[in-house]
Amino acid sequence: MKVLVIGTGAREHALCRSLSQDPAVTELHCAPGNAGIARVAALHPVDQSDGDAVTALARRLDADLVVVGPEAPLVAGVAEPLRAAGIPVFGPGREAAQLEGSKAFAKDVMAAAGVPTARSYVCTTEQEAAEALDAFGAPYVVKDDGLAAGKGVVVTEDRAAALEHAAACERVVIEEYLDGPEVSLFAITDGTTVLPLVPAQDFKRALDDDRGPNTGGMGAYSPLPWAPEGLVAEVLESVLQPTVDELRHRGTPFSGLLYAGLALTSRGTRVIEFNARFGDPETQVVLARLRTPLAGVLLAAANGTLDALEPLRWSEEAAVTVVMASEGYPASPRTGDPIEGLDAAEADGTAFVLHAGTKVGPDGEVLTAGGRVLSVTAVGADLAEARAKAYAGVAEISFKGAQHRTDIAARAAAAAQ
Ligand code: AMP
Repeated sequence: MKVLVIGTGAREHALCRSLSQDPAVTELHCAPGNAGIARVAALHPVDQSDGDAVTALARRLDADLVVVGPEAPLVAGVAEPLRAAGIPVFGPGREAAQLEGSKAFAKDVMAAAGVPTARSYVCTTEQEAAEALDAFGAPYVVKDDGLAAGKGVVVTEDRAAALEHAAACERVVIEEYLDGPEVSLFAITDGTTVLPLVPAQDFKRALDDDRGPNTGGMGAYSPLPWAPEGLVAEVLESVLQPTVDELRHRGTPFSGLLYAGLALTSRGTRVIEFNARFGDPETQVVLARLRTPLAGVLLAAANGTLDALEPLRWSEEAAVTVVMASEGYPASPRTGDPIEGLDAAEADGTAFVLHAGTKVGPDGEVLTAGGRVLSVTAVGADLAEARAKAYAGVAEISFKGAQHRTDIAARAAAAAQ
């Protein structure tokens, strides 16, 4: 199978790593990719949101499957010309991707499908926003309606800050605050059949103890020893399947990866958000535990044959990933610094490095090229062991101003001891 992966991040590196280990994959390509992906796939400098360019590349490569990693190309409709050209594509079309592209659309689908989520108002004026904030009270939750790379949400006790964020966005969703731990549950779907993956938890805030601004994600782990038994079955029944059914009934079936961000509140499980693609950094830990070769699963989703697939096989081991970000992330990341210790981090085979914002410099050195620079992932018998291995890898890597959280999976590991 010849596979083309679209995207540039650690999620795409994780996908490429798993695909490169799948014996069914004979050729692996990525566009545009990064310095780490270049080690396992052939890179092609193509604009990832240009559907015609991506389709032309897939044709030229004679790709049997195109896997679209990030949300921006999906929301831009990159899947449509590929499907029109008869090329199997993993990822929803433009309409179904609105589940992530518009928070208001997602709320509408959830209401129609009876999916439990926070009560909310869609607001376009400051007056409406002020009324919605007062209707719910503090803590205030204000979400930019459109795509914002994980940075469009403000949760604050400060009413003025909430109003300021609302005023800075064209359209916002203001919703009730959900208490309780968060879980990310991914499902692979062909528009009808829904296959949940294993739950993971990510760490959205920049600093230890969940302080600092929201980011794209600073680390993740799986499994969740504290999660209630039956959680996956419950979410499949009350969230994932009804959402997929609703979109199919609307004539815009969702195929690809449906990501449910959940809050386990005192009043039950609620959807915080949907994403239309693999989450980063949870993908790093979820794929590290997947034993079933990946390519066949993604192809079955693209071809509408998931119902015929054997059940997915999972490792009982735990996986932890720690993101290393550049100085100034998320507000104003510094780039262009050389990264040292990449080989040392992987030297004894216990951890692996997945690149995000990296590029190859003029002398072949690897340079920082984005906010989230890379993530170090490790697998172990339990969370404590996986965590120790991942942080040992992090300790080997350095670049100017590097920052990372020190408490990824710490509480869950301690509680499980
Ligand atoms: P989102 O991009 O919608 O996942 O929001 C980013 C983060 O903001 C989530 O992971 C939560 O930590 C937080 N958040 C979003 N919505 C709510 C809510 N209704 N109540 C509490 N926290 C929220």
